[in-house]
Amino acid sequence: MTHRSLYKRGEADINAPVIAHLLGLPDTPGVMFLVFAGFGLLYFFVLASVAYYVYFKKFRGHFHSSYELDPKEMKSAINWSIIGVVGNAALMLPIHMLIANNYSKMYYDVSEHGWGWIFAQVILLLIFTETLIYWTHYAFHRVPWLWKYIHERHHKYVVPTPYASLSFNPMDSFLQAVPHHIAAFFFPLHAGVYLASVTFVTLWAVCIHDRVSFFRWPWLNYTDHHTLHHWYSDFNLGQYFTFWDRLIGTYRSPVVDYDDVPEGIIYRPTSVVPTSTAPTALGGRSANPA
Ligand SMILES: [Zn+2]
Ligand SMILES: [Zn+2]
Repeated sequence: MTHRSLYKRGEADINAPVIAHLLGLPDTPGVMFLVFAGFGLLYFFVLASVAYYVYFKKFRGHFHSSYELDPKEMKSAINWSIIGVVGNAALMLPIHMLIANNYSKMYYDVSEHGWGWIFAQVILLLIFTETLIYWTHYAFHRVPWLWKYIHERHHKYVVPTPYASLSFNPMDSFLQAVPHHIAAFFFPLHAGVYLASVTFVTLWAVCIHDRVSFFRWPWLNYTDHHTLHHWYSDFNLGQYFTFWDRLIGTYRSPVVDYDDVPEGIIYRPTSVVPTSTAPTALGGRSANPA
């Protein structure tokens, strides 16, 4: 028996995508849009504001002592985050409606495919999203009109702050987020795994833009990598990992490739000085990153 046969269209208890379903809300397009836009904005601004408050205000002297607020840039980052999140919710609506109406392989009961498949689908989802997002991002950086009309907006922030994490042209947000939402059309995806994945990717986006690098496993596309991505633009294009970058030749290592990155841009909790030619005070005490 397939999951489709278990969940017929019209069954009220499963005939809605995850959040609306959990809240018991109807799955009309208007409600779905408001749920995804509203939750998206609330969640993002809580995360970004906590990161900004801790690293750039309250403990600024410790983490980013050379940071100076640029009100114009901050306003633009916040405005484009709102435009990106709301626009993304609108563009994603047809996909959410298809999921709500059981046209995807999303399922809600673990026992349907067992725990083994829960773990397997997490791996599959990581490979699926990593691959699609790498190549989408690669195209954004290689095809001039995609860069100019879609992706350049996000690169206005050469030295990012948490509020720049989702500052995207809505088309950019949509194309980089869509792999997470279409995965359920390719393989059975549990609603909880789907929800965890879209929740985590937003948290990850904020983490890699706050310029505080806690996790430094070289195969992980951690904060250092993405800070270099904003500085040098065409390198470190992955989502969570660096394997596509290494394979295709778009990898730049935070350990050796700090050629002209000013001091103080990245804070590393336990200072790791890359090379003798690289910046030394990675905690940043003197240089102005702008
Ligand atoms: Zn980029
Ligand atoms: Zn970025």
